[in-house]
Amino acid sequence: MPSRTAPVWITPLVSLVVALGLSVSVSAAQQPETLDDLLAAFGHTFSQILTPDEFRQYRTRNADEIRRADPELYQKISQNVVRWTDAWVKHVEADYETIPEERVAQARSEAAEVDEKLRGYFAERQWDYKRMRVVFLAQRRLYGPGGAKSRGVFLRYYPDAFFSTVDHRAPRQHVLVHESLHYNAAWGFWGPVLVEAVTEAKARRISAEFGWPIKQNREEYYPLARKRLDPILEQISARRSCTGDEALDLLFEDYLKGDDAHMTETFGVEAWSKIVDMSRAGRRWNKKDILKVLEGAPKPE
Ligand SMILES: [Zn+2]
Repeated sequence: MPSRTAPVWITPLVSLVVALGLSVSVSAAQQPETLDDLLAAFGHTFSQILTPDEFRQYRTRNADEIRRADPELYQKISQNVVRWTDAWVKHVEADYETIPEERVAQARSEAAEVDEKLRGYFAERQWDYKRMRVVFLAQRRLYGPGGAKSRGVFLRYYPDAFFSTVDHRAPRQHVLVHESLHYNAAWGFWGPVLVEAVTEAKARRISAEFGWPIKQNREEYYPLARKRLDPILEQISARRSCTGDEALDLLFEDYLKGDDAHMTETFGVEAWSKIVDMSRAGRRWNKKDILKVLEGAPKPE
């Protein structure tokens, strides 16, 4: 067993010191190559600087739960993640030298366009809007070789920005809309299936409205999760006598505010929390089970 005082946690931090421009000489191999490596370095460092109980929470609970249950611990984790990530970003921004200038410029101008349009879109509906801060990284920094296909990365402990790349071929505006919606959403307990379904369904409506392409080579985001959203939207429409778009907006408002007000009004607390539990568990997320819960819910007054 290494001693707790042994400087095993130095490695991930050294590279960040370098990123800050201090004159410490380390080999390139010691610097996190990718965002994934950076996250791995966090885990390693937190295992040393958090108490055993805090570290257990970091490992086993998600950021939302920690934020609600232990805001101080959330702050402690988040402050470090933000500091280290900012430093790492500064370090990898040197990559821009290897990316043609006009691609970076184009990505930034498209981001500015999306931000401006979304701001107006939210304002018209009286929804709060948080201005976008997107950090563009070279693709190899975002995922590494053979990395995941997702086009944007949002770090839960790094709440003020999200990451994307100028290299991928996916339609950028649509990616930015999708990530911006996550960025503006309250961090609720809905679970990934429902969250991604609502995010992507709403992002598609918005992109269509502004004429931004939605897919490349017929490749789509979360097709299955969205398909499962249909029975929920149909049930909302039937109970509220509204269109599918209006039903999606009711759901989307709950997603933004994190209060579930429209959904509990529509289905009652019990039925709606069953749906949320099903999404969080990731199991039984099929049309038959969803309909069974929603059709059995008491009708609104
Ligand atoms: Zn997403």
